[in-house]
Amino acid sequence: MKVFKFGGASVNSVERVKNVGDILKKYTGEKLLVVISAMGKTTNALEKVVQAFYHGNKEEALQLFEQVKQQHLTTAKYLLVTGYLACEQQLKDFFTEAEWLLHDKPVREYDYYYDQVVCVGELLSTAIVSHYLNEACIANSWTDVRDIFRTDDNFRDANIDWEFTLSKVRSSVVPLFNESDIVLTQGFIGATDENESTTLGREGSDYTAAVFASMLDADSQTIWKDVESVMNADPKQFPDAQPIHELNYNEVIEMAYYGAQVIHPKTIKPLQNKGIPLYVKCFLDPALEGTVIHSQSLKYLPPIIVLKENQVMLEMSSKDFSFVGEHHVGHLYHLFEKLKVKPNLTQNGAISFVCVLDDRAEKIEKLALEASALFDVQVVRGLSLLTIRHYTTEVLEKMIKETSILLRQQTPETIQVLMKQ
Ligand code: ASP
Ligand code: MG
Repeated sequence: MKVFKFGGASVNSVERVKNVGDILKKYTGEKLLVVISAMGKTTNALEKVVQAFYHGNKEEALQLFEQVKQQHLTTAKYLLVTGYLACEQQLKDFFTEAEWLLHDKPVREYDYYYDQVVCVGELLSTAIVSHYLNEACIANSWTDVRDIFRTDDNFRDANIDWEFTLSKVRSSVVPLFNESDIVLTQGFIGATDENESTTLGREGSDYTAAVFASMLDADSQTIWKDVESVMNADPKQFPDAQPIHELNYNEVIEMAYYGAQVIHPKTIKPLQNKGIPLYVKCFLDPALEGTVIHSQSLKYLPPIIVLKENQVMLEMSSKDFSFVGEHHVGHLYHLFEKLKVKPNLTQNGAISFVCVLDDRAEKIEKLALEASALFDVQVVRGLSLLTIRHYTTEVLEKMIKETSILLRQQTPETIQVLMKQ
């Protein structure tokens, strides 16, 4: 059994949906649990619907929702012949589910409405793809993951009830494989014990796929993306970024920690616990090698570069020139926790403590203000934080030439340099 996850970009047009079918055909005879995201930018569009609704602009909300409806109906029309009517009926049931709510006035919290509306994106997308695949003789069983994934009611960031979900996977998902080799479902969404829809946080469907992989003891998980593989740097920042074909779980967790937009550690964990390899493959060209992420240690890894722009440095000096001790530092970490900020780099000296953070103006202002009760605070903006794992002198020299460096920290494996932009 394999678990596949197709992201929104892989199903954002009629051609792309057909392409998913072509990929699945290559795996004929294998059992596949397939998770598919909302089409293209549907999740963003639905977020706008919820915002309008919550601000009391009912007409606007309904109108924005109408656009989402029409897009999906049009896609279904182009993809389907014999299955169209059945698909249309299924889509309409989901439309009704959301509209029924949009006609009311908001009386509960925003996040609750968010989840009830936004979950529709994955339901519509998977319904269309499932009907299309069945019509194209790629037999599959569609299932509503909200009947499987039980969560708490922490809307927009719901936590999975592992035990209940596992028993549902065993009793309701496993038997579906007797009917067809492919079981097709949604990621990112679940439901509470009161049948309210929940979501697991943006980009949550990679995580759903990993949970399925773990619970089904899958041989592997594959995430189908529009990039050729995981790269050693963001190609948008560094056009000569190189593909990395092999990584291990710990390296991916480290990369994510330093800010690389790779795979979320939350997704890695269930796979790591069971030693299930994760493949990243390109849906545009499945023949490309892609990346495999596993548990084995690797002899060689290329320099991996993460550049975080828009950083701010706060230098906090004790007011009376006393040493900055546990008491001061403890106080600062309480502030970080309270304001929900995470320093990207810290350094403690005799009479000052330096931290580097993403420059979110409002939070930084609050932090500086609160810290000024205990410290003299100096704020320096417009900085970049460069992190290189497995650095070589050559790569480092190249990256920092002609920049002025404010701070530098290094271990045998990782170097971090704070630079003026
Ligand atoms: N559709 C959701 C999002 O765009 C979940 C996902 O694709 O992972 O965040
Ligand atoms: Mg996505």
